[in-house]
Amino acid sequence: MIYSLKLIFLLIIYFNQAYSNELVNLRFGSNGEKNRIVLDLIEDASFDHKVYSKKIDIIFKKPIKISKNFKTLNNLQSITYDKKSNNLQLNFNKTIFSTNIYLLKKKKNVHSRIVIDYSLKKKKRKTVIIDPGHGGKDSGAVGIFKNLEKNITLKVGILLKERFEKNTNYRVVLTRKKDIFLKLRSRTKIAKENNADIFISLHADYNRNRRARGISLYTLSERASDKEAAALARRENRSDLIDGIDLSDETSEVTSILLDLTKRDTLNQSSLLVKFLINSFKNDLNLLQRTHRSAGFAVLKSLNIPSVLLEMGYLSNKKDSRLLITEKYQRKLADKIVSAVINYFDWQDKNNE
Ligand SMILES: [Zn+2]
Repeated sequence: MIYSLKLIFLLIIYFNQAYSNELVNLRFGSNGEKNRIVLDLIEDASFDHKVYSKKIDIIFKKPIKISKNFKTLNNLQSITYDKKSNNLQLNFNKTIFSTNIYLLKKKKNVHSRIVIDYSLKKKKRKTVIIDPGHGGKDSGAVGIFKNLEKNITLKVGILLKERFEKNTNYRVVLTRKKDIFLKLRSRTKIAKENNADIFISLHADYNRNRRARGISLYTLSERASDKEAAALARRENRSDLIDGIDLSDETSEVTSILLDLTKRDTLNQSSLLVKFLINSFKNDLNLLQRTHRSAGFAVLKSLNIPSVLLEMGYLSNKKDSRLLITEKYQRKLADKIVSAVINYFDWQDKNNE
């Protein structure tokens, strides 16, 4: 039942302040399971957010003008805006779960929107394994500016853990937290030991063609989708060779798992996860053509859970390289991944009931 509550709106506005942005509308939506609050803004805003049991803070980077009172609905009890910290606080009368907060950029005739999804029902906690590729004596690709793949994957991995765990429904296990060497098999072992729900391996590619750029996503397959994917799998699998492990017998394992129906379902689920990731990336980030490819990646095999390998860009490309080393871009990437994963699990929950 949707009911209305009188809004207690505390506004402290200094009128001598020039605002470049304004909150013009606040809307609600609900499909029973999921509740949505949409904040309409005149311009796209940079913000951070914090989620508490009955409260969400949206902390804007720049002051926001709020010149009218908005009606609150549903379980939103009050909204307050603290001018000093640019903090918009949404207070709920019930405990909220499964929050997903993201920005939809301004389009022609459509306001910029901050979307806040939440549920009032507690769901089973999901375990996400984030695998920062390479590490230690295995530096991975060496970038055009001498940046090492292993450092970039670790930074994004740590950011992902931080971002995911703002949402109490997620537990993130990193396969490595430091600059250490880890065999590919140890990475999958960590996933199994932790009863993981999904597995995401982070990488950054290198290509002789320096113009090649963009994000690509890989799932496991017996036969590679194309030559580049096959070559990439060989490069990524080489990680173990550094430690003197022969992968030749593992290839047959990759082949045989495809006959297993449960594995087939896992592969379908992995492809679905890729679709959610592409959807989340496509508007703001650069994607490689034919974004989803497949090959025999050792780190993805022997897992019974949806698993993807994400190449975050090309370290051989100037633009990608510059982006990948900035924290701003790393955060953006992490936020998009978190959003995609949450949407993926929401879809799963809805369709598996
Ligand atoms: Zn790699």
